[in-house]
Amino acid sequence: MLKITVFGSGTSHGIPVVGCSCATCTSLDPRDNRTRASVLIETANEHILIDTATEFRLQAVRNGLSRLDAVCFTHPHADHVHGLDDIRPLSRERPIPVYGSASTLREIKKRFDYVFKRHSAGGGVPRITMKNVYRNRPFLIGTTRVVPLEVYHGSLPIFGYRIGNFAYITDCSRIPETTVPSLMGLDLLIIGALRERSHPTHFSFSQAIELIERINPVQSYFTHISHNHTHSEICSIIRKATDKKIEPAYDGLLCTLE
Ligand SMILES: [Zn+2]
Ligand SMILES: [Zn+2]
Ligand SMILES: [Zn+2]
Repeated sequence: MLKITVFGSGTSHGIPVVGCSCATCTSLDPRDNRTRASVLIETANEHILIDTATEFRLQAVRNGLSRLDAVCFTHPHADHVHGLDDIRPLSRERPIPVYGSASTLREIKKRFDYVFKRHSAGGGVPRITMKNVYRNRPFLIGTTRVVPLEVYHGSLPIFGYRIGNFAYITDCSRIPETTVPSLMGLDLLIIGALRERSHPTHFSFSQAIELIERINPVQSYFTHISHNHTHSEICSIIRKATDKKIEPAYDGLLCTLE
């Protein structure tokens, strides 16, 4: 059984965007309040987080997270890693393994250099161990098999992840043909889709829909959503474009897979 909680569903600014008074940023619909993108995956034995988003602490508190067994990083952009310091209370008992590509881990080491310096005992820094993983080469977290999916974020190769029949891909503008077979037979896909208008480093809604129509997951959700559209506007954009089961994700959304 897999339990997936969307910790955050927003693009890099977070929604509401600081200083913005657009319809989405001033919306009273709680689903239009989008913190930075991240998901928690609970398997029978493990709690696995994908990315430590900027609001990780708020997301963890809001969702009652009390245990964390691993973090899988998609890429080292600020919105996906800057919450790392706040895993401290969860790494007190034992270091938490963090998984990512060599370049992602290198960048995290640079950004969080204080974590790797000698320091006195205490709650001062998150305790982590770096685990290099490779594109399309499955690895185990405890008993859970995880597949890093190579996708492109503009010209940058980054990772999505597949666990069982669930895949999470964010900040993607192109999926190489070598990754497509790993996206077949999904029950659930959470895919980054920024807005209706195209963008050089993120899928637009129509590009994400095109992918979904090709790989045909049972259910899909958009994430990493901008402030260009409210939740209800996105629902109607999707309805007009396709009859596939696609909805915009929102913070706190819970999906359970048997
Ligand atoms: Zn991002
Ligand atoms: Zn706005
Ligand atoms: Zn990014």
